[in-house]
Amino acid sequence: MRQCVCGVRIRSRDNLCPACLAEYGADSAHWPDWVAYLVREEQREADRARRHREYALCDEVAAGAIDDRYPSEMGPAAIAAAWAMIREMRGE
Ligand SMILES: [Zn+2]
Repeated sequence: MRQCVCGVRIRSRDNLCPACLAEYGADSAHWPDWVAYLVREEQREADRARRHREYALCDEVAAGAIDDRYPSEMGPAAIAAAWAMIREMRGE
């Protein structure tokens, strides 16, 4: 779930609720700047939340890192460290 620019909760694959869709249209090129901005921010937040769920384990492994890149973005050493940690946590 995510939030429409008007505050209504909408499905995560939608950008706007039906009321806003009727008002602003489906074409983001014709949205007022503030609508485009809020939709973009909401999308960014949704992406971040999903990414954190999917990579929760790797995030823990990379907790020492300041940034929030995936281990796969940080190179082979980070990937190897992540897998070593995962194996350890599984008790292998
Ligand atoms: Zn709305």
